[in-house]
Amino acid sequence: MQNRLWTADRLEKRGFPNCGLCPLCKQTTESITHLLVNCRFTIRLWGLVKDWLGLHALHPTQWTGLTIKTWWSRMAEGPIPNRKAMASLTLLTTWEVWNE
Ligand SMILES: [Zn+2]
Repeated sequence: MQNRLWTADRLEKRGFPNCGLCPLCKQTTESITHLLVNCRFTIRLWGLVKDWLGLHALHPTQWTGLTIKTWWSRMAEGPIPNRKAMASLTLLTTWEVWNE
């Protein structure tokens, strides 16, 4: 939410050479919001996590256009019964996406 991760858009602003595209889908400029919320690969991953854990209240396909702040608020305050577990799951999943 503080936009401190070194995504392509941020590297570009600092003058560091990069291809500018999301390394997962290679179709859109990489920003933190795209990478963690809007990328089709991330949405697919969240769909798998949703199915795996039976999180029926989670709807990753409806995240298009959300800001990272709105997305995080929905994840932390949404209809998921165990908020602490959901916060941990969100952090773990976003960490894995970032590492990829
Ligand atoms: Zn992407």
